[in-house]
Amino acid sequence: MNMNRLNLMAMMTAKGMDYEKAGKGAIGGIPTLTAQDVAGALGMADISREAYLYGLLKYTEDKTVIHELDKLTQQAVILFALKQGWKEPFPGDKKRSLFFFLQLGRLVINELVGENLCGTCDGTGVYRHKKLTRKCSCDNGRRPMRKAEQAKFCSVHYNTWNTKWLERYNACVNEFQKWDVEIINALSKKLNDFQIN
Ligand SMILES: [Zn+2]
Repeated sequence: MNMNRLNLMAMMTAKGMDYEKAGKGAIGGIPTLTAQDVAGALGMADISREAYLYGLLKYTEDKTVIHELDKLTQQAVILFALKQGWKEPFPGDKKRSLFFFLQLGRLVINELVGENLCGTCDGTGVYRHKKLTRKCSCDNGRRPMRKAEQAKFCSVHYNTWNTKWLERYNACVNEFQKWDVEIINALSKKLNDFQIN
């Protein structure tokens, strides 16, 4: 079981959930909740599409959702930036600004998932380019980023990133932690229903 799922269960347990009553066996005090359980509960939860996809990525390790999640996160980051009154990084170059927000969104996802998925291989650990397939140079799909790497990933100068966008990026990470809150609340409610029925 992945660490994220264990953490999810620990958080839900802290909210007073009883897994054994919910029909999930507990071994050595650690309740079991399969990826299918989580995916099923997320699918029925009344949460935003991006929270749903994010939940699948984080708690069931379903990496097929990344492309759609990237797009939705890009939109969400742009909306958040507008609300904060942040100017686009490249006024007069819409395409570049859009790419910046796409990349920023991906950094947010990586950080929230807590696995710093490698951008080269999309977290698979295997690099594919045309007919070439080789093990990626990252640590099995994970690659924590330094500030200079973050700046490069978003295609802005290091100084621009360090003095302006790093703080905003952290505000985005904070903002989108609401996905985890949405997910935990929805799953807790779902398990509560199990216990009542
Ligand atoms: Zn990689």
